[in-house]
Formats: sequence, structure tokens, C-alpha cells
Amino acid sequence: MDFDANKRSLFRPKKVITTDNLLPWVISPKQFLDNCTQCGDCLAVCPEEIIVKGDGGFPNVDFDLGECDFCGKCAEICKEPIFTAITESPWHKKASINNTCLANQNIYCRSCAESCEAQALTFQIGISAVPQIDNDLCTGCGACVAPCPTKAIEVKPIETKENK
Ligand code: SF4
Ligand code: SF4
Ligand code: SF4
Repeated sequence: MDFDANKRSLFRPKKVITTDNLLPWVISPKQFLDNCTQCGDCLAVCPEEIIVKGDGGFPNVDFDLGECDFCGKCAEICKEPIFTAITESPWHKKASINNTCLANQNIYCRSCAESCEAQALTFQIGISAVPQIDNDLCTGCGACVAPCPTKAIEVKPIETKENK
């Protein structure tokens, strides 16, 4: 029996593109996926070289490579209607620390705090206290991600009044 490959493709699950690591100032994941041409201009212009080809070939920020200094060059170079003005807040992302933080094993480590210029990471008294994040100070720059020896830090969207 003949089998229509086109018909079969109708039933294939659509590939879902991960949008967890989008660039700063992106209006929305939909706006980004609908308009990004994957031209690569933003990758070339990023002075920190933290923009990589991510899921589906779309540009993503990779904090394992460094931090975002919010220069705005990626948003400025892009010709597509993807970004807000860089005078707006770049994103509603903050650092978040999971249970693999060495403090949970009573091991002394201050790597994240030492890399945080905003001084958003603090430790309670006690040699191995788990770091606390001050969300008012955290810019979501990602500078604390790469230095963490156990990959305990992620920069994730937080719920705000604006993005609820
Ligand atoms: S410059 Fe704009 S269109 Fe080009 S890859 Fe980057 S986000 Fe996509
Ligand atoms: S704002 Fe600047 S440092 Fe941050 S991702 Fe864009 S080009 Fe790179
Ligand atoms: S993301 Fe940046 S500002 Fe926030 S805690 Fe990490 S280093 Fe500090």
C-alpha cells in the first residue's frame, strides 16, 4: 500500500524550540521566534561572546561563556522587530541557586559572591551558609553562573507584575 509521506508528516509532533535563554530586551518568545531570521548579526557583535546558536539555530545567551554587560549591541544591530528599546529593563531574570551549592555539604565556597559586582549575593554568618540573593540588586547578568564549581546557579525569569 502506498503511504503518503506528506500525510504522515501531518502527524509528526511539531518541534518545540526552547526559549529559556533568549537575549536581553526580547519583546516575547513568540515575537522572537516569528521574526528572527538567524542572520547571526547579534552573535558577531556581542563583545562578551556569550551569544551562541541555540535550539533550532536561534541565538541564545550562554552564561557558561561569561556575563551580559547590558551594552545593548545585540538589540541595536538587529533589523527585525524583536527587541524593546534598550532604555527599558533588559529582562525579568534573576539568579537562582539549587541544592547542589557546596554550602549544602558544609564546604566553604564564595565563588559566586566574588563574581557579583552588584553585591546581590550575601552569606549569613557561618562558614558554609547558603548564599542569599537580593532580587532588588540582582540584574540577571549571569556573572555568577560560570564560576560556580557545581553549576548550582541558573538565571531564570521571575514573575513580576509586568510579566504575570
Ligand atoms: S540579529 Fe536579530 S534576526 Fe539576526 S540572529 Fe540576532 S535576533 Fe535574529
Ligand atoms: S547586551 Fe551586549 S553583552 Fe549582553 S548579550 Fe547583548 S551584545 Fe552581548
Ligand atoms: S546574576 Fe549577576 S547580579 Fe545577579 S547574583 Fe549573579 S552576578 Fe550578581
